[in-house]
Amino acid sequence: MNFRRFLPGPVFRLALGVVTLLLCLLMALDLLVGLMPDRYDEAVRIRTRIAESLAIQLTALMQNESPQAMTSMLRELLERDDELQSLALRRADGKLLAQAGPHDELWNLAPDAPSTITDVRVPLNANRLPWGDVELTFSPIHPTTVAGWLQDPLVRALGIVGITGVTLMYLYLRRALQYLDPGSAVPPRVRAAFDTLREGVMLLDAEDRVVLTNRAFSQIHPAAQKVDIGTPVKSLAWLTKNLGPKTEDWPWRLVARTREKMDETLFEIPMPDDEPPRRVVLNASPILDGDGRYRACMVSLADVSMLHQANEQLLQTIQALDESSEKIRQQNDELKRLATSDPLTGCMNRRAFYEHLSSVMTKANATGAPVGCIMTDIDHFKNFNDTYGHAVGDQVLVGVSNALKHGIREQDLLCRYGGEEFCLIMPGLDIDGTAAVAERLRKSIEEMAGSSLRTTGRLKVTSSFGVSQLAAGSLDEGDMIQRADAALYEAKRGGRNRVATEGQVTPESLAK
Ligand code: GH3
Ligand code: MG
Ligand code: MG
Repeated sequence: MNFRRFLPGPVFRLALGVVTLLLCLLMALDLLVGLMPDRYDEAVRIRTRIAESLAIQLTALMQNESPQAMTSMLRELLERDDELQSLALRRADGKLLAQAGPHDELWNLAPDAPSTITDVRVPLNANRLPWGDVELTFSPIHPTTVAGWLQDPLVRALGIVGITGVTLMYLYLRRALQYLDPGSAVPPRVRAAFDTLREGVMLLDAEDRVVLTNRAFSQIHPAAQKVDIGTPVKSLAWLTKNLGPKTEDWPWRLVARTREKMDETLFEIPMPDDEPPRRVVLNASPILDGDGRYRACMVSLADVSMLHQANEQLLQTIQALDESSEKIRQQNDELKRLATSDPLTGCMNRRAFYEHLSSVMTKANATGAPVGCIMTDIDHFKNFNDTYGHAVGDQVLVGVSNALKHGIREQDLLCRYGGEEFCLIMPGLDIDGTAAVAERLRKSIEEMAGSSLRTTGRLKVTSSFGVSQLAAGSLDEGDMIQRADAALYEAKRGGRNRVATEGQVTPESLAK
């Protein structure tokens, strides 16, 4: 709960202070020089006079009047004077001869005691001898209750003077201070202009006290709604919390030291009640006078929370897009792989093979480099299927294709050409080079392919090879493949598990 708003404003407090001081001064002056008549002395004087004149009257009456007559005279006197509370006539032997009012209750004075302000005794003489006393009790001079004090004319006068004084002083000071109030040093039109800005603005004087804030500033934080003019900026904990522990490094201090503006300090303002912190960009510029002296610092605060949030969202969207495009790329790759390769062995299918072959041919044509071709076919493959089943047949196919893959270079092409038939293209190799590769491949199938089978014991897997070379100056890859195929047939005919080159092809093989 904020009690401050129940406190009177500074102008009122100032007026109250001035009037109280004045009244105290007056009272002190009164004590010293006696400006006002002393009520006590005055009252004593009046009461003594009343008592004495009564004594004179009673002395005259005592000679010939009865006690009843004296009683009625005392009563008459009591009624006439408001301050008189009781009266009595007492003989020297202590006996009361006449009285008016509740004298027994009120009379407090011991027989020998001197008179007081409330109890007054005047001795009476008869024939020059002490006869008795006239006793008078008066109401107290000073009130004894709060209500009594309020009735007291002096208190009333002080109250009226005080209230009137404070009111007049307040009105006067308010008017006079209007011109001295640092808050009103900024003309309303300038203030209104600042209020139109979307950025929060805070003007600090050379002592880092807040001189002006605009409307946008008050919306940055709940505590910013009540920043009094003159508040030291370091007391705004909500603002300075994340500006670092060293006050000398705070932007306005740096600006005051360097006299240069500070741009774009990004920091967070913590918010109450689990609200996310505000991200704020702070700019601070010095205000110098004609002599270049530092007079003030203009601080602007731009709330970039929304922008930051939007940026974060954008980043997230971009990331999600990146991820999905990466996924699409992977799927495309997969589709491409599926469309271009044989699912069982991973070798190129015929379509992809011919595509690649045509670019090999174009390059060979441009450079005149040789191109070698190998056709290979697994020997007696049908037997594996028939003896061990299709699954084992498939494993044989995979084993052979792996042996082929491992034995060739990156630029070579490997295609599953038919059921258990593979075609290989060797760019840059002539017939001898290609035959050498074929021989190496044959050996590695003979050695490796059988052992790669998982389900059965070691089987003897071999392959026959036919080798050809692109005819000089020709672009006819079909012819090259066909010649390799004929050589393969020659190898089969020659006993399988061997390499035959196109030069070894016999008319029988060609005639098949
Ligand atoms: P040769 O030594 O003369 O080449 O005899 P071969 O048994 O290997 O030749 P053949 O052409 O008689 O048999 C080929 C068999 O390959 C016929 C076919 O069922 C089988 N085959 C073709 N494609 C596949 C395949 O993908 N998986 C399996 N397991 N068998 C296949
Ligand atoms: Mg075959
Ligand atoms: Mg075969």
